[in-house]
Amino acid sequence: TKQLNFLLPDSDATVAFGKRLAPALKQGAVIYLYGDLGAGKTTFSRGVVQGLGHNGNVKSPTYTLVESYQFSEQSVFHFDLYRLADPEELEFMGVRDYFADNNVSLIEWPQRGEGFLPEADLTVSLAYEGEARQLTMTAKNVRGIAILAALKS
Ligand code: ADP
Ligand code: MG
Repeated sequence: TKQLNFLLPDSDATVAFGKRLAPALKQGAVIYLYGDLGAGKTTFSRGVVQGLGHNGNVKSPTYTLVESYQFSEQSVFHFDLYRLADPEELEFMGVRDYFADNNVSLIEWPQRGEGFLPEADLTVSLAYEGEARQLTMTAKNVRGIAILAALKS
């Protein structure tokens, strides 16, 4: 399967879905997150980061551009590029090192970083449906397909 759809009735469901995805990300992944402001990209990321074992706060990287989390086996980098003035800034931030092997990158507003980001393994799109959100996950390569398969089982 290359695409999965889920209806998430409230923000708790969006967090829970992120947590459910976490165990499928052990080999690492680059995940692009799409959706309007308030669609739930940060809420979803919070679930993933907590699902990977982080117990504390998961702040939105609105002003910092990136928040990082270190686990024993991998690191997670949560980006929000909305305020990135120029994609070239990513180069100066030294993000190239972030995208190593088994790390997980969750990237809000990847459009702003075009040309300076690795290809996505997976894209997640969130769309308003009243109070609920329609989440669409799309695999972009074999790694993405494996993640979707692990999620389904
Ligand atoms: P984004 O990062 O896409 O701008 P956030 O995750 O920061 O969005 O904010 C989503 C907002 O919408 C939060 O205030 C959250 O409580 C609310 N919300 C309501 N329903 C949902 C839902 N089903 N999934 C995610 N967030 C929801
Ligand atoms: Mg956000």
